Amino acid sequence: MDKYDVVVIGSGPGGYVCAIRCAQLGLKTALVEKYNSLGGTCLNVGCIPSKALLDSSEHYHQAAHDFKEHGIDLKDLKVNFKQMIERKRGVVEQTVGGIDFLMKKNKIDVIHGLGSFESDTVIKISGEKETKIEAKNVVIATGSKPGSLPFIEIDKERIITSTEALELDELPKKMIVIGGGVIGLELGSVYARLGTEVEVIEYMDRIIPTMDSAMSKELMKSMKKLGVKFHLSHQVKEVKRNKKSVSVKADDKKGNEQSFSADYCLVSVGRRPYTDGLGFDKAGVELDDRGRVVVNDHLQTSKSHIYAIGDVVRGAMLAHKAEEEGTMVAELINGEQPHIDYNLIPNVVYTWPEVASVGKTEEQLKEEKHAYKVGSFPFKASGRARASMDTDGVIKVLADKETDEILGVHMCGPRAADMIAEAVVAMEYRATAEDISRMSHAHPTFTEAFREATLAATDNRAIHI
Ligand code: FAD
Ligand code: NAD
Repeated sequence: MDKYDVVVIGSGPGGYVCAIRCAQLGLKTALVEKYNSLGGTCLNVGCIPSKALLDSSEHYHQAAHDFKEHGIDLKDLKVNFKQMIERKRGVVEQTVGGIDFLMKKNKIDVIHGLGSFESDTVIKISGEKETKIEAKNVVIATGSKPGSLPFIEIDKERIITSTEALELDELPKKMIVIGGGVIGLELGSVYARLGTEVEVIEYMDRIIPTMDSAMSKELMKSMKKLGVKFHLSHQVKEVKRNKKSVSVKADDKKGNEQSFSADYCLVSVGRRPYTDGLGFDKAGVELDDRGRVVVNDHLQTSKSHIYAIGDVVRGAMLAHKAEEEGTMVAELINGEQPHIDYNLIPNVVYTWPEVASVGKTEEQLKEEKHAYKVGSFPFKASGRARASMDTDGVIKVLADKETDEILGVHMCGPRAADMIAEAVVAMEYRATAEDISRMSHAHPTFTEAFREATLAATDNRAIHI
């Protein structure tokens, strides 16, 4: 039986990054993946394909709606949806191929097949042929799968999850989206931009309910302009497939039943940790009441040499959070003392305008009774935003009332996904709002809006509002 210092189960951004870091540290490493392609949810059916379609659909939407004003006339503009999906497939293929290359480069043994515990040190891999390997340390990085509601039968044709929504072979005329969270709004945007009538049914009284409520309002305003309809505070109670359509029933805030119908229904109500078939009973690994692998602050399970990372454990289901945990576990196994500040893991919604945030929301600060001050700056006051016709949105900075330390940054606007990195650096170094306001930001750039928001938080000193 081959022996390894580390066996990583699952090749998503948590697993493959962990394997690379282990190899960099000189640990003999194997990576087990049940599918033929590496990269997990993120590369195959998540981050990368969704962003490919978000970009394509945004190009089309701009060409259809903004080019004329820019002085560009187009004739016979139309969507070639099959080509759009084909390009997305190409992007995924190339990205996944990159991971194969990285595994070879780092001399990581990749074993394809379903990994399961035979004991707490022996992993069985069932595939075309069965293999058993021995591990000093095991990292469970098996990720997550789409969640649903108990009464919904996902038929993968008309009642679909994000996985199918990334691979449709026709453009829906109408799509009902159940859940106004990040998947619903990103994929809802893709289809709304391409001309699909999109209606979002959300249980809470606002969309992206875990983010700062000012961002929910800003994004909803922009998405309404795109033509998306929202039904907030609605509890879905029935979803039925008819031949080529889907009917949905939900109770509104007052308890009145509302009916909806469309040719497709996207269910995006969250994801569930994936632990099927791992044989945890043979290894003594415990799960919590939500099916997540229980870990301590060092990401160790109930067995100290078995670690778990990414979507399969507590915390945000984000690729970069999984990556950080993968690196941390590799370094812990190597005897180092790494640390993750979960408060500084940014959150992004890749709609247009984009929404990005780091640190505390205003709602959290209120709940914690933390004395804070607010500085905001709207993109309509930014010269750069006017030049590119991207004037929707706002940046909001929350700082400690006494010390001026930045506690949270919330952006809804153009390129917010990239701009949030400056706020992460600032908060990592415990910058004050005044620190940022005294740093030169190139003109004209969208980043000036961040500086203006920090000026606004510093004695209301914004220049351009
Ligand atoms: P996964 O990526 O889920 O990988 C787990 C891997 O383990 C899979 O390949 C699976 O096949 C394998 N596996 C499972 N069980 C076994 C077993 N027993 N044996 C062998 N292999 C096994 N996050 C972001 O940060 N930014 C985004 O823009 C973003 N967009 C997203 C868009 C969509 C549509 C979706 C669905 C998700 C998106 N996410 C995004 C979330 C992101 O994809 C996940 O947080 C991330 O992939 C989690 O990484 P992971 O390594 O924990 O697990
Ligand atoms: P989510 O948790 O972001 O949103 C689910 C939404 O569904 C919430 O607004 C919730 O209130 C609503 N909901 C729950 N039950 C409902 C019901 N019965 N009726 C109506 N609405 C209901 O989950 P998601 O959008 O499915 O995404 C899953 C995970 O994938 C997220 O945790 C996210 O971290 C990750 N993801 C991240 C990105 C990104 O980083 N850009 C993109 C896509 C997915």
